[in-house]
Amino acid sequence: MPDAVSRHPHAPGDVVTPERDITHQHFRPGDQVVILKGVASSELWGDSYKVVTPSWHTPTDEDGWRLYDPLGGERTYLTAHPRYLVHLSSRCPDCLIYQQALRTYLVPRLAGAEQDVDCGWYSVNHLNQVVHVADARGGR
Ligand SMILES: [Zn+2]
Repeated sequence: MPDAVSRHPHAPGDVVTPERDITHQHFRPGDQVVILKGVASSELWGDSYKVVTPSWHTPTDEDGWRLYDPLGGERTYLTAHPRYLVHLSSRCPDCLIYQQALRTYLVPRLAGAEQDVDCGWYSVNHLNQVVHVADARGGR
């Protein structure tokens, strides 16, 4: 994963993640997951975390998961909605389907980018909750 990633001025919107149908129970404490945020070297990239414990996700008013990022500094713990998360294990068919859909959508659209691209789909609110742009409402 690259250290420095530039935000792409014409990064496409995410039409895949908001439509994703995944249950909260799909994930369990201890799972290694990634939140996919953009493209690097013609492949999807994102930030990886360990699932810790169930946690309410206020922006969606739904059950989310608390995530642990050992390199997160002040944001060592974040809360995210299940549909943002992808199992790193290649043996998870549900997550693979989502990952492939996102790759098929995104990678060709950024084929001309000279740098690695953060699409800017996610932000972190004052409660250290990860919020997808499609779930953000009433200002950040
Ligand atoms: Zn999975």
